[in-house]
Amino acid sequence: MLDHDVIIVGGGLAGSRAALEIAGLLPGINVGLIAKTHPIRSHSVAAQGGIAATLKNVDTQDSWESHAFDTVKGSDYLADQDAVAILTQEAPEVVFDLEHRGVLFSRLPDGRIAQRAFGGHSHNRTCYAADKTGHAILHELISNLMACGVTIYDEWYVMRLILEDNQAKGVVMYHLLDGKVEVVRAKSVLFATGGYGRVFNTTSNDYASTGDGLAMTARAGLPLEDMEFVQFHPTGLYPVGVLISEAVRGEGAHLINSDGNRFMHHYAPSRMELAPRDITSRAIAIEIGKGRGIFPNGSPGGPFVYLDLRHMGREKIMSRIPFCWEEAHRLVGIDASIQPIPVRPTVHYSMGGIPVNTHGQVRRNSQELVDGFFAAGEAACVSVHGANRLGSNSLLECVVFGRRTGTAIASSVITRKLPDLDEAHYLKEAHHQIQSLLDQRGQYRIAEIRQAYQDCMTAFCGVFRSSALMEEGLIQLRQIQSRYGQIRLDDQGSCWNTELIEALELQNLMVVGELILFSALNRKESRGSHAREDFPERDDNNFLNHTLAFYSSARIEISLMPVVISMFQPQARQY
Ligand SMILES: Cc1cc2nc3c(=O)[nH]c(=O)nc-3n(C[C@H](O)[C@H](O)[C@H](O)COP(=O)(O)OP(=O)(O)OC[C@H]3O[C@@H](n4cnc5c(N)ncnc54)[C@H](O)[C@@H]3O)c2cc1C
Repeated sequence: MLDHDVIIVGGGLAGSRAALEIAGLLPGINVGLIAKTHPIRSHSVAAQGGIAATLKNVDTQDSWESHAFDTVKGSDYLADQDAVAILTQEAPEVVFDLEHRGVLFSRLPDGRIAQRAFGGHSHNRTCYAADKTGHAILHELISNLMACGVTIYDEWYVMRLILEDNQAKGVVMYHLLDGKVEVVRAKSVLFATGGYGRVFNTTSNDYASTGDGLAMTARAGLPLEDMEFVQFHPTGLYPVGVLISEAVRGEGAHLINSDGNRFMHHYAPSRMELAPRDITSRAIAIEIGKGRGIFPNGSPGGPFVYLDLRHMGREKIMSRIPFCWEEAHRLVGIDASIQPIPVRPTVHYSMGGIPVNTHGQVRRNSQELVDGFFAAGEAACVSVHGANRLGSNSLLECVVFGRRTGTAIASSVITRKLPDLDEAHYLKEAHHQIQSLLDQRGQYRIAEIRQAYQDCMTAFCGVFRSSALMEEGLIQLRQIQSRYGQIRLDDQGSCWNTELIEALELQNLMVVGELILFSALNRKESRGSHAREDFPERDDNNFLNHTLAFYSSARIEISLMPVVISMFQPQARQY
């Protein structure tokens, strides 16, 4: 058995920022960080557009209160406003801290950090490193981490959270290199395992975004919060779904339908292309639905609209958003300085997740906390994004709440003891789980079931939803799930058995997908990213609450948790 004072699962922005905080506050502490990828391949590395903070370098009228208001309004009033106040007040400090740790932000001519416009933000407050912001931040955090004695277990896959008597005691992990299974015991456990985009068939997320941390938490009997709120990013590159950052619209690109019109004028006249993502994604879906989409040959009625950068000029494109130009060029052969880019909404971000308080402590229910268990970043729901996240607020959340969670762990871990646990029991269970998967001799390959599942989630729980659609979706989902018992793995080896990992990940996708669909069925209103055709209005009287969904293979139970409203009363949301 491996022992650590603290074990962190996840080496993205949230996990690495928390690890740095703990190691900085308690030099010599024994921290282990586990990641199924190498940490610098965590999905944070793909973040493009930037990180929001009211530095006032470009816009002197900006304030944290304005950032907080934009965030709450963007969330369709479902965000917890105490958490939003922390997010927006601490933002400038964490960005300067990143800079002092070595992050190379893009600059204004006078040398200060540059800031750009972003959707739903009323001021130019997004700090950036061209369109490679996640890359710039993550690489610095990980090289800082290497220098401070944290043990990194890269390419170890965590299979299970060990939770006994309402206390997190450790995890069970599998080494991709040689198939070894280890039990890791710790005084505190932090999950920073990122999102679940791969539940759907078209996503901007990487292959590793399979919601593992969420599924492990749900299987341990703990709730997941607000799972119905799935963010569709308006500008996924057609047909592949990878992201064309909002920074492109922040720098001035237009959305155009088959008539050649800038249609956002009808949906958000004051913000146009820089409306929040839920509104812009719905607008694109409506335009396509009404036959004003475009086909690859340029004729009307097709499956995408155009993102038009041509008026911006080659020099601006290449200096401010070179990576987006490169993506369109490499993946679909478009030169965006002379051709418009085909785009449509793509699944991008998980607003919901593991419920935590503002110190990252995981909630057992609306009143109680779990001892020694923390979560941060996209896997967590603190809830600063409510029903719809604003662009450039996620990197911020990872850094602000990664740091705060690190502080909370550091101050609690010194008085804690290593827990007792039965290592042999957990090893036997993990070996049994692996061997029974390897022994299955069914007729289905994993990819077939995964594709069917992703197609089902996309068809029945997409941008627009209704009871009839989702009830049918739930029936089909369960039929697909029942085929899991008839899978077959061709790779029987223990060295780099990615097929086995995909089988384990598919189990997680299935838990997460069912929780999304069930939570969405339960919320009979339209709010933020959750658009119900049968309940088109927001209903504050009945649904100004967070959803807590408890999973069991037999049934899912839903309970509600109040929203913290401390600054801004809910109003009609218009842009
Ligand atoms: C293409 C793209 C562009 C984006 N651009 C922006 C932007 O400009 N601004 C912004 O604010 N937000 C942006 N976002 C969102 C933002 O990047 C993410 O929400 C954020 O980086 C998530 O960080 P994280 O630390 O929570 O998780 P991640 O960076 O996803 O890290 C998760 C970690 O958990 C590990 N892990 C997961 N499961 C297991 C397991 N079972 N065992 C072991 N390890 C595991 C992974 O290996 C990884 O190390 C973007 C998202 C995408 C997809």
